Amino acid sequence: MKRLLTAFFFLAFSTAIAQRNFDNVEIRSEKVADQIYVLFGAGGNIGLAIGDDTAYLIDDQFAPLSEKIMAAVRKITDKPLKFLVNTHWHGDHTGGNENFGKSGTILIAHKAVRTRMGSPSERNGNVRPASPLAALPEITFTDTLTLHLDQSRTMHVMHVNNSHTDGDSYIYFPEDNVIHMGDNFSNGGYPFIDLNSGGDINGFVKNLNMALFIVDEETRIIPGHGPVTDRETLRAYRDMVDTLRSRVQKALDAGNSLEETLQLGLSKEWDADFGTGFIDSKGIITAIYRSLE
Ligand SMILES: [Zn+2]
Repeated sequence: MKRLLTAFFFLAFSTAIAQRNFDNVEIRSEKVADQIYVLFGAGGNIGLAIGDDTAYLIDDQFAPLSEKIMAAVRKITDKPLKFLVNTHWHGDHTGGNENFGKSGTILIAHKAVRTRMGSPSERNGNVRPASPLAALPEITFTDTLTLHLDQSRTMHVMHVNNSHTDGDSYIYFPEDNVIHMGDNFSNGGYPFIDLNSGGDINGFVKNLNMALFIVDEETRIIPGHGPVTDRETLRAYRDMVDTLRSRVQKALDAGNSLEETLQLGLSKEWDADFGTGFIDSKGIITAIYRSLE
């Protein structure tokens, strides 16, 4: 069931991509710090950091958007795009990897990103083929990695607990006071706990707590999806996810089946704000239940 449910999400998601026309997508940029930007288009939020003689990209949305993304980067900086870091393996964050990799950008990610991208995976009976070699991160790490942007500014890539997937990283810029949380934070939507990719609700809450420990009231927080935000919004998100987890755990401990748990209305006060997108009320309760059982 766990597999089937996740497969359903992915199938719905991939079908949407296959049918999607990217012609009308515009890449919009927003400055979040002196030398750090976010690019919005279709798919996961892209981070752009500018160093002394190099530009760095975080995630790259879908392959058909690579030229537009590059054009948006060029409006901001003419420095070469030497490095690209993936927050995790999902296609709405790594779809442009092959294009950027072939153009000479070095791809970096946690080792699980390379493993998952590099092997076929089965979704609801459909097999997703392995990504081509040129799309795979050529530098992988297991714990943390530091990139030095210039004399004083750094970019820390930190593998976090299994939560959205088993290969998630936070990208933290301490001197610029910016963090990109990947899909450990979907601002305005319920979390996607990808159980088929090692996702875990307990890790999810731990990672939100970890992010709250890192940030201060000035930190600009880039979520994997949704608008750039601040600590207060992240705190409210953590409270919501943590409360949902406790409620589902309680229902599980009381012997409720998944079907019974779904009838309890455990997420109802948040459904209007968080349950209208990719993951609805049924989706989040089911994922938490399956993750905890
Ligand atoms: Zn994702």
